[in-house]
Amino acid sequence: MDLGIRGRAAIVNAASKGLGRACAFSLAREGVVLTISARGEEALQETAAAIRAETGASVTAVVADVATEAGRAAVLAACPEPDILVNNCGGPKAGNFRDWTRDDWIAAIDSNMLSAIELIKATVDPMIARKFGRIVNITSSAVKSPIAPLGLSNGARAGLTGFVAGISRQLAEHNVTINNLLPGAFDTDRIRVPVRAMAAQQGKDEDEVMAGMVSTIPARRLGSPYEFGEACAFLCSAQAGYFVGQNVLIDGGQVNSTL
Ligand code: NAP
Repeated sequence: MDLGIRGRAAIVNAASKGLGRACAFSLAREGVVLTISARGEEALQETAAAIRAETGASVTAVVADVATEAGRAAVLAACPEPDILVNNCGGPKAGNFRDWTRDDWIAAIDSNMLSAIELIKATVDPMIARKFGRIVNITSSAVKSPIAPLGLSNGARAGLTGFVAGISRQLAEHNVTINNLLPGAFDTDRIRVPVRAMAAQQGKDEDEVMAGMVSTIPARRLGSPYEFGEACAFLCSAQAGYFVGQNVLIDGGQVNSTL
């Protein structure tokens, strides 16, 4: 299926590895002109080169911490008026809520709530003027089904989810959509963070905890970043204009609910 976004400009943040990288690849395959970011230059340049080599897409790589104002400004300087914005940032640390300080909470809110909100604020008005905009926030299945050791993530992402629920309804008449894509357990570096925390808590080794977790997923496997990237590209497509303010779970059936 042609997603109808060839030649559109996209920002994909936190895109040197994992889910962000996969989203960038999927959009590049659709002929989108990319600006990608991450803090570490080496992996970011490697990803940019791999995307160019595989897809022939134009890719601008910006070394930036998108949890900071300066980082977001650097990304926007490279692509001031994106048609597509994929908000992503590293997840917060895992642990026991009793240990989390105000600084830990502010860091989580900066990364997983305010970063996306500030970039939405900076980009939606030109999208409205052009009558096209697609914004996808990478959040987490933890928004629907909290993961206890990831309380910083549960809390900060819930704030973003509430904000998006309201603002997405204000923008829909302009063909500007905002949706959240909620990963369950995907095969990236990040999946090791909760697994390590659970292993420490339960006195087990990480492989045992991982196997136990996978056995609870109806699909009986981790998700592949490719599957996630393709879902993201679809939410960014011309055809997805009637998805408004949705929280789309992609989790192999792990969250057990009817709706
Ligand atoms: P990952 O494989 O660890 O990749 C994280 C990417 O984000 C890297 O490219 C990293 O590069 C970049 N990054 C981190 N902090 C950044 C910042 N402040 N500014 C710019 N770039 C930044 O993680 P992932 O699995 O793709 O996860 C992506 C998001 O989905 C995270 O928020 C994660 O918590 C969430 N999530 C993941 C899963 C899963 O199963 N994988 C499940 C639920 C939620 P640098 O470190 O070089 O900046």
